[in-house]
Order: sequence, then structure tokens, then C-alpha cells
Amino acid sequence: MSMSSPAGEPTLRTLTGQVRGEVLRPGDDGYDAARTLWNAMIDRHPRAIVRPRGVADVIAAVDVAREQDLLLSVKGGGHNVAGHAVCDGGLTIDCSNMDWVRVDPAERTVRAGPGTLWGDFDHETQAFGLATTGGGVSTTGIAGLTLGGGNGFLARKYGLTVDNLRSVDLVTAEGEFVHASAEENPDLFWALRGGGGNFGVVTGFDYDLHPIGPDVLAGRILHPFDDAVTVLRRYRDFVTGAPDEVNCLAGIASAPPDSSAADLDPGTKFVQLLAVYAGAPEDGEEALQPLRTFGDPIADRVRPRPYTELQQLLTETAAPGYRNYWKSDYLAALPDDAIDVVVEHCDQFPSDLSSVFFETMGGAINRVESDMTAFPHRDAAFSVTAWARWTDPASDGDHRAWAQSLSAAMKPYTTDGVYLNFLSQESAERVEAAYGDNHDRLKTVKAKYDPNNLFKMNQNITPAQ
Ligand SMILES: Cc1cc2nc3c(=O)[nH]c(=O)nc-3n(C[C@H](O)[C@H](O)[C@H](O)COP(=O)(O)OP(=O)(O)OC[C@H]3O[C@@H](n4cnc5c(N)ncnc54)[C@H](O)[C@@H]3O)c2cc1C
Repeated sequence: MSMSSPAGEPTLRTLTGQVRGEVLRPGDDGYDAARTLWNAMIDRHPRAIVRPRGVADVIAAVDVAREQDLLLSVKGGGHNVAGHAVCDGGLTIDCSNMDWVRVDPAERTVRAGPGTLWGDFDHETQAFGLATTGGGVSTTGIAGLTLGGGNGFLARKYGLTVDNLRSVDLVTAEGEFVHASAEENPDLFWALRGGGGNFGVVTGFDYDLHPIGPDVLAGRILHPFDDAVTVLRRYRDFVTGAPDEVNCLAGIASAPPDSSAADLDPGTKFVQLLAVYAGAPEDGEEALQPLRTFGDPIADRVRPRPYTELQQLLTETAAPGYRNYWKSDYLAALPDDAIDVVVEHCDQFPSDLSSVFFETMGGAINRVESDMTAFPHRDAAFSVTAWARWTDPASDGDHRAWAQSLSAAMKPYTTDGVYLNFLSQESAERVEAAYGDNHDRLKTVKAKYDPNNLFKMNQNITPAQ
């Protein structure tokens, strides 16, 4: 070892011999791909990236990070907009090789590895006509999404992803392997259902599955931007009190230059409703009808289609490689004035890539008590997210300012809460707001499982003293 080698260097070298997976160093083939995140704003260079093949590799990596006091980060699908999955100068555990999915059709359960993406998960479970609530973009990782709560098109019918989680395998900061479920380590299991990556490295997730598909009635309805206020009011009235099977994402965006997403000239703003009926397609026709029979839509693409196709519909519009900043808030209701504020801000999109979207909560999501899982926002009716997306680093400030100004203007209508998984790089107060009333209890669980805060590259919960 040269005199100038940083602390931990010999151990990092020997880590290569201790794991079945790869250990990538700067300059190695694959190093840059492994450190790349969905959000191009984040460009970090870990000293080493471990790509575990199994639990033993994860234990070895956690032990090295703890013993050498290395900054440690954990990467699933790499989609988190805040970009905590990769660190500068430390050790990143990239779980992408642990992407196994094992369905038990008889029990209607599935076990999946922490590197699994929702597209792979849906592919495997749909072979048996089964699904669980998962992300609406197929390239998002199951790991980060699940640990933050997990909202998707099935959530109003079957609850959030965490409501379908049966158990978890995890490697703690001490390198110990533990199982967490309602029966075993229930405090940890509670915290993992909304507490993010604060408690260890998850090496396996078990979920409940439900019969879905193969076809579901779903698709986009597009309206002109000029009708945005009317369309959004109609959307609100329709989803409020709709059956649990009905879900709808509403958004305002601009037609992209090279996509079939809109029957519009590139750059033209439009409103879109992505309506889904999570049941038999024939039952959905009547349920979705009110959303399809008003105004003068540009296009109505609601039709029976494979569930796996629904789960890919948004993937193209959420391509990686752009600079991104999100500002998201929950709403207990969506009054007319709030809709006006959103539409006014959409009139001032800083680029054709900017958009705003509303998620519909309610149904089974809200029938769970807010302290039953670490995810606390069970009283929210909607979330609204300003999604700034752009390419030129010189205009970072303008795009962030636009998203922040929409969030500020919505303050009279929003709750104090925010979805953990939609936080950008934001203040400690906003991180605390994501944990809401469950924050103190999470701090206590953190003190038990990670008292020295080894897992700090996340929306951090500091251990209770
Ligand atoms: C295009 C896009 C679409 C999205 N759609 C949805 C959606 O439909 N519904 C929804 O709820 N959310 C959605 N999200 C938000 C998503 O839930 C978060 O971005 C989530 O963190 C992504 O998980 P990941 O594994 O891909 O992320 P990563 O960036 O890899 O991980 C995020 C964090 O999770 C933790 N983590 C990851 N793996 C592990 C592990 N094995 N053990 C312990 N901690 C770990 C780490 O703290 C890490 O920093 C979307 C995000 C994007 C960018």
C-alpha cells in the first residue's frame, strides 16, 4: 500500500475475493453504467461499486463499509429522483444482479430480489394471471418503491405496495441477516413499510398477489389544454366516490417531438387522463363511462389491453438521461381554486419537457390507519407533482424555481405531507414531513437497528438518542 492510499483501500481490494459478484472500480468496464442514475442531475463517483450475487456478498460489503467507516449507498432500480443510491468516494451496493422473481401461484404470493424492476416483476406474475400494486413505469425498481410506500394503478383496490408486503429479508448495519414480518421483528417490519432505506439492505421481498388480467380496461384520454380547468374538475368529481377498481392519473404535458403519445403537434400542451379499471374489463365499461363522455377529447384510447401493456404505457415518457426536479405535495381535497393555480403554472412551463400530474388516492389506501405502517399519509385524497425536466445544466435554477413556485402557490390547499419517494434533494423539514407523525417511532427503530447511522444515504432518519 502506498503512503497516499486512502483508508480502507487494502480491504476494498480484498473485497473482490470475498464476493461472488463484481467489484467495479473507476476505469473498469461497467463502472460508469453502474453509477448512472435515472436523474442525470446526479453524477457521483463511488470508490467501489459492489454488485452482489446474493446475501453473502451483501454481508461482506456491509461489513467492509462499517469496519472502514466508508460512506455507503444502496441502489435498486436507480430511479429515485433525489439520487441517494450512489455516493461520492464511498461504497455503493448495486443490487441489479439480484433480480430473481419466484411466484407461488397456489398461495398467490411472490418472492423477489432487490434488483428486480417492475417490468420483470409484472412479466413473471402475469404468467399466472396475478399482480400486486407496483410502479406505473416498468423500469422503476421494486426496492426503493416498496420501501417508500408504493403507489400504482391497483392501489385503490388492493392498497399500497407496502400493504401487500408479507415479509422482508434484510442485512443490518452489523452484517446480521434478519427476517421481518408481522410475527418476526414486527418493529422493523413496520418501519420498512414507508421508512425507506434507513434500516439495512433488503435482500428479498415477499408480496401478496391478486388475480388481475390478462386484460384490463385502461388507456389515455387526451383533451386540449384550453379545456384544462373543466377537464380537471370533471376528473376530480369523477374519482371522488368512484369504486375502488377505478384509478385515474391526470396530467398536463406538452406533446413530445418523437412519440406517439399524443395526436398533436410537438410542443402543444394537452391534458391527459390515464384511466384504469382494476377488474373485469366488461365491468369497467360502465364504471369509466362518465370520464369518456364529456367535452371534446382529442383522443380516447381506453380499451381492453394486457395489464403488462398498461404497466409500460408511461415508460417511454419517463426515459432516463434528463435532468429532473420534482416538487410534490398531498392534498386532502382538490378545490376549484387549486385547479386554477395548477393550470396557470402549466401556462408557464419552463420547457416542453415540463409537466404536472395528479395521483388519485382513496379506496383501500385510505382504509389503513396512518400508524399501521410507517407510510403515514392515509388521509390524502390526491397528490400533485410538478415535474421539471430539462437538458441544459445552465438552466437548472429556472426549472427548480418553476417547480418550487407551483408548490408554494399550492400551499393553501396542500397538507403538510409529501410522498417520501417523490422528494427531490430537499430540506430536513420536508424529509420529516414525509414521515409525518410516524417520525419519532421511526427514530426509535433506527436506533435499534442502525444506531451509528451507517445507512445515511437516503431520506435520513437520525437514530433516537
Ligand atoms: C419515472 C419514475 C416513475 C415512478 N413511478 C412511481 C410509481 O408509479 N409509484 C410510486 O410509488 N413511485 C414511483 N416513482 C418513485 C419511486 O418509487 C422512487 O423513485 C423509488 O425510490 C425508486 O426505487 P428504485 O429502487 O428504482 O430507486 P433507487 O434510486 O435505486 O433507490 C432509492 C433508495 O432506496 C433505497 N434502497 C434501494 N434498494 C435498497 C435495498 N435493497 N435495501 C435497502 N434500501 C434500498 C436506498 O435508500 C436508495 O437510495 C417513480 C419514479 C420515477 C423516476
